[in-house]
Amino acid sequence: MPEVLLGLDVTEIAARLNAELPPFRARQIYDAIYRQGSERLAEVTTLPAGLRRDLEAGFSVGRPRLRRRFESMDGTRRYLLELGDGRTVEAVLMPETSRDTICISTQIGCPLDCKFCLTALLGLERNLTAGEIVGQVLAVARDNGLSPLDRRVNVVMMGMGEPLLNLPGVLKATRLLTDARGVGLSPRRITLSTAGIIPKMAELGREPVRPKLAVSLNASTEEQRRELMPVTRKYPLAGLIEACRAYPLRAWESLTFEYVLLRGVNDTDADARRVVRLIAGLKCKLNLIAHNPGQGIPFESPPPERVASFQAIVRRSLPCFVRKPRGRDIYAACGQLKRLTAISPEASPAATFPAPHPPGPSVLPPSRRSA
Ligand code: SAH
Repeated sequence: MPEVLLGLDVTEIAARLNAELPPFRARQIYDAIYRQGSERLAEVTTLPAGLRRDLEAGFSVGRPRLRRRFESMDGTRRYLLELGDGRTVEAVLMPETSRDTICISTQIGCPLDCKFCLTALLGLERNLTAGEIVGQVLAVARDNGLSPLDRRVNVVMMGMGEPLLNLPGVLKATRLLTDARGVGLSPRRITLSTAGIIPKMAELGREPVRPKLAVSLNASTEEQRRELMPVTRKYPLAGLIEACRAYPLRAWESLTFEYVLLRGVNDTDADARRVVRLIAGLKCKLNLIAHNPGQGIPFESPPPERVASFQAIVRRSLPCFVRKPRGRDIYAACGQLKRLTAISPEASPAATFPAPHPPGPSVLPPSRRSA
């Protein structure tokens, strides 16, 4: 098996090359992979042909392969990407007028078992490597002709998995994504969302190069959160808010809280008032997300008036926005990432990319994994 280069920084690439090669060769390779987005070493025409052949014998770029692409009516695209070991993971592109957001995964599946989330049904398969995390950004950017160097691209680690349970991979990926001589994304344009792994939040806060922090709150009381997010049993809500208070925000940064509204469960005016009491003292904003449904998930979205009333109460005390659901028709919305083709009848394992894109609704509905 050739050694994978994606995930290595320029020093690590240099250390793997033949010592007789001049040091600028490592820089050229690094530049090709991260800045040009080359998928194969054979494409790197800045290198002499003989060297390219030698390199190809021992190394590969190792970028995730585009297996399937699903297009939503609203422009959202969900990607099923294949990794070196044949496993698959999902990333989502959400185009907007002023920017494009790429939502990437940090684990295959997730161990946290949040009761409203479809990814939870997969359990955890494994952590993604730094190269696999960066590779999702490069693959989606390239497929859409986007350059992370321009100011339009945002990256959110809000796909499959809990980023703080893969902190080394996430941090290395962040350093690679924000390297001004490489991918060149601004650190202000990467956000990580956590379900609240308290000790890892402190660790993250000590890192010089780190994404912005978002916290999935999703409940207004300790008991409610314990039921919805079992991680709360280990890391209680009170401790989570304390960790947020202690978190060393950079001057330009503020915390984002996310709150999934579940009809009749956590969406009352009383919940809204309790949420305000919990977080109003922090430099933060709250994003409301109406629950995205999924088969096997026993919750419903609240009616729009309920969402509006909740927002109106929070707004009196802090900035509060309602996030539009994106790509629900292709199962690309928050909490819906479950690698649908793996279980969808029309997804034959032989389906290759680029295949004619199936219209969004035809990939529905998913069937629940037999537990
Ligand atoms: N594990 C991390 C990141 C992945 S989840 C975290 O918990 O933050 C990304 C976001 O999607 C979280 O805010 C989560 O609460 C939200 N989410 C999960 N399931 C959802 C659903 N069914 N509808 C709407 N949002 C959901």
